[in-house]
Amino acid sequence: MDDEYEWSDARCPKCQHSPTHMRTCTSLGCDDGCFDEYEDDPINALPGEFSICAECGGTGIEHWCPKCGHDMNTTANA
Ligand SMILES: [Zn+2]
Ligand SMILES: [Zn+2]
Repeated sequence: MDDEYEWSDARCPKCQHSPTHMRTCTSLGCDDGCFDEYEDDPINALPGEFSICAECGGTGIEHWCPKCGHDMNTTANA
């Protein structure tokens, strides 16, 4: 496991905790926020078919609140 993360000055919209944590998405197969469907399933998917990563919301970065666990990617502004 890679537990390294960086601090973000962004404040949690839920509990107002700051700083929050962020790190490069560790989801298996996530490439800058997208999954290459064709690479996973060349029979059913078309070349160039991508799906958005649920972990990082397509940003390629996981950003969460260490206090309440809020996923900062779900609300850009609150
Ligand atoms: Zn991801
Ligand atoms: Zn929070």
